Amino acid sequence: MSMTLPYREPLVPREPGERQIPEPPRRGEPGGPPCGICGGKTTSAVWSDDNWTLHPPVKGSLPGSVWLASRVHVDSFADLPDELAADFGRVAARVERAILSLGDVARVHLYRWGDGGAHFHVWFLPRPLGMVEAPGMMLPLWEDTLPNVPDEELAAAAERVAAQM
Ligand SMILES: [Zn+2]
Repeated sequence: MSMTLPYREPLVPREPGERQIPEPPRRGEPGGPPCGICGGKTTSAVWSDDNWTLHPPVKGSLPGSVWLASRVHVDSFADLPDELAADFGRVAARVERAILSLGDVARVHLYRWGDGGAHFHVWFLPRPLGMVEAPGMMLPLWEDTLPNVPDEELAAAAERVAAQM
């Protein structure tokens, strides 16, 4: 497998910008806009239990993608109560199995970025079977570059994931 950027080369490296310190506040942290997850501004959950909610994305290109959020408003793994941190492994395995059951999925990639909002959520992206140019960090770049599919298709695929949970 060789990593291939979803852009024609040559790309030209550039310098990073000036560092912004302090960084601008994120959604859901003091001084920032309200938390979209707590405020119900996101897609509705297709599955939930006592600890977690599972949501389809919007404006995406890979059906089967979902994001998992904690019910409690905490920022990252470091902030999860021990019980939830342990439970994350259980629920992540269930999400992974459910996405794999869709078929034509080689692997399920997990990404926790946390740069947009301060409410714990983890992305699960299916790497399409045979898409060997998109291993590792290449998959989110390809996801961003490929044409979006209708939100209804993303939601329907997420419902199929939820049905396997
Ligand atoms: Zn929140």
